[in-house]
Amino acid sequence: MPARVKLIVLDLDQVLWDHHDATSLKPPLRRVDATTVEDSTGERVVLRDGVEDFLRRARERGAYLSTCSWNEPEKALAVLRAFGLDRYFDLLVIEPHPEKDRMMERILNHFSPMGVREEDTAFVDDKEEMLERVRRRFPGILTLRFHPEGDVFSFSDLGKILLGD
Ligand SMILES: [Mg+2]
Repeated sequence: MPARVKLIVLDLDQVLWDHHDATSLKPPLRRVDATTVEDSTGERVVLRDGVEDFLRRARERGAYLSTCSWNEPEKALAVLRAFGLDRYFDLLVIEPHPEKDRMMERILNHFSPMGVREEDTAFVDDKEEMLERVRRRFPGILTLRFHPEGDVFSFSDLGKILLGD
């Protein structure tokens, strides 16, 4: 892992999974298989390849993990729990507004007593607008766009960048 990255902050929709809006899901959720969750209408959420492996290795390397997601918290949490992934995160920040700079402030305040500064932090999101919003406020954060036309579009490549695989 690059020496400076101590905290990895991950968006959820279209990053951890392919679905664009966990808030639109209709509970209850049902786990279909290792990488698929289905809501009560048959709407499916598919986990990206290699997510759990990435989270596990990040923890093993001593990185802190947080989410930073624009969703109704109970909806996105239900998806994380259905996949059994909530336990990997030190902090779950999921709020029903797009102001990710405000969410990031909360996240940095939470990890500051552990010696984490913005320069030690990486933020991964699919939307350039969100990355820009966070960069404007916290220019020291390493931002990565998870998108076919972005900086990275797989968790194995994200591992190479952030975990030095
Ligand atoms: Mg997203």
